[in-house]
Amino acid sequence: MTTAKEETYIPDIIVDSTSGVTYKKGRFFGKGGFARCYEITDTKTGNIYAGKIIPKRLMKSSNQRDKISQEIQIHSSLSHNNVVGFYGYFEDNYNIYIVLELCRSRSLMELHKRRKALTEPEVRYFLHHLTLGVMYLHQRKVIHRDLKLGNLFLNENLEVKIGDFGLAARLEFDGERKKTVCGTPNYIAPEIINKKGHSYEVDIWSIGCIMYTLLIGKPPFETSSLKETYSRIKRCEYYLPSQAKISKSAAKLIRQMLQPDPKSRPKISEIPLAEFFTDGLLPKQLPTTCLTTAPRFDTVKAVQGRRPLLEVNSAGEAATISAATKPNSGHKCCSGENPVALEYRRNMRSLIEQLVGVLKTNPGAKPSTVPLDETTDPASHPFVWISKWVDYSDKYGFGYQLSDDSVCVMFNDYTKLSLHPNRKNLYYILENGEEKFYTVDSYPDTLAKKMKLLKYFERYMQDNLIKAGAAVPVRECDSISRLPYMYQWFRTSNGVVMVLSNGTVQVNFIDHNKIILCPLMGAVTFIDDSQNFNTFKFSSLKQYGCSSALAQCLKFAYDKLSSLLAP
Ligand code: ADP
Repeated sequence: MTTAKEETYIPDIIVDSTSGVTYKKGRFFGKGGFARCYEITDTKTGNIYAGKIIPKRLMKSSNQRDKISQEIQIHSSLSHNNVVGFYGYFEDNYNIYIVLELCRSRSLMELHKRRKALTEPEVRYFLHHLTLGVMYLHQRKVIHRDLKLGNLFLNENLEVKIGDFGLAARLEFDGERKKTVCGTPNYIAPEIINKKGHSYEVDIWSIGCIMYTLLIGKPPFETSSLKETYSRIKRCEYYLPSQAKISKSAAKLIRQMLQPDPKSRPKISEIPLAEFFTDGLLPKQLPTTCLTTAPRFDTVKAVQGRRPLLEVNSAGEAATISAATKPNSGHKCCSGENPVALEYRRNMRSLIEQLVGVLKTNPGAKPSTVPLDETTDPASHPFVWISKWVDYSDKYGFGYQLSDDSVCVMFNDYTKLSLHPNRKNLYYILENGEEKFYTVDSYPDTLAKKMKLLKYFERYMQDNLIKAGAAVPVRECDSISRLPYMYQWFRTSNGVVMVLSNGTVQVNFIDHNKIILCPLMGAVTFIDDSQNFNTFKFSSLKQYGCSSALAQCLKFAYDKLSSLLAP
């Protein structure tokens, strides 16, 4: 008989006994239905991988074992730039281990949660990668059958990597119709629900759902009940917003892919020929900041598409955005009109509501006894946080450095000037929210004094506050990157509260504890005085409770944020 401890056992050094290769278990990366994912390092070569680890105790039924072997059999036969690399598998007494390409930027699911509706050039970019990957799969007679945002992983360059072949199937011959799926696909096609027999077209349906979700910000058939969702899918009933929100060519492609009759949907090889792809800007690269803030496509030259500048981002996200007015000093944001202020209030309200929900359960009273890896959610780890700050507001302003090494000053005149991690690109936000993009070699004379101050703050933080990271190389796409910036900050006797433009709230307490709250991920990161980072979803805090230290931090944040929003 095995003990509870043995049942969830994952050794620190993982040995592939057939090949003799050993891996060192590193950072916990996330938990799925059955699998846990850890960063693992080949002890000989130093190569880093994602180790997908499935406890054998969960593989009780032959059905589940068949599924895993099917997944391994299919995935191991694949090799393509847009498919998660498969490097091997093995087992020991406790677990099955699958060695995969590590996708450090998580998946399109986290991107979607943070950003909601993306710009069209971004959607074109991600769909282009997805289409190349699916074209490869279909050529090899593989149907993925569960294409969804969470299975579209992203590496550090934001290249899409299709993963999780748990529901995939390989056809014996092209005309074969599969009758069943062993599980429930997320973006399930009507012919699967109707059990009519299905084939490659189910992946096209899912791509249609993915395109809709990325562009509109929510899935096409979502309702509060699965039954209702299924009946909408069967009736192919979804709402496409007017042309003011999405382009004609985007709407056309979505309609083509979301057709009830599988035969009428385009083949994967026809998708790149759609007007949506041929007539719009297709960025070659995207900056990593687009994981949290919309890039701009109004002056794209460096990151040219096949046809440069055909699509200038029209209304909305990438055009001029207004920022907070007189945002510092802890007072209310006065103008409710501008989009950034509206977004700010929405985010803060949502955060306060979520904090109320957590605090109601009195989480500090029942500190969790569950192992940390069970309660943490590394996938919700913040994209950036404030790594250093200096308050010089009695004279000039508030300077800070973000964890990506960008440096910024929020001046006392409410303008902000950010220096990109590459130390070349500049981002200037006027008091009325208008944005300007310059470089250190080319900016107007009127900014000379502010540049001097920015440099001064940068040097001060470098010399006096822990060491700064190595400079980041300049990427072509940096010129379209938007950095999150300080929206509001204030100090209290307990510490400093900082609100970033992407909705992140960070509180640094004088006892050196820190919390980073994200209303979009519904999560908090607790950084203790030894710099340990742990990210918890609010739902997990409700279920498992937390340390009294974290509970106190949450209560403080709730008090401060609610007084900030009080009328
Ligand atoms: P399951 O099949 O049990 O649902 P998943 O494939 O979803 O398991 O993986 C579990 C977790 O590991 C998820 O949080 C996922 O984000 C993460 N993960 C899986 N594969 C990778 C990878 N190649 N790189 C990085 N993270 C990964």
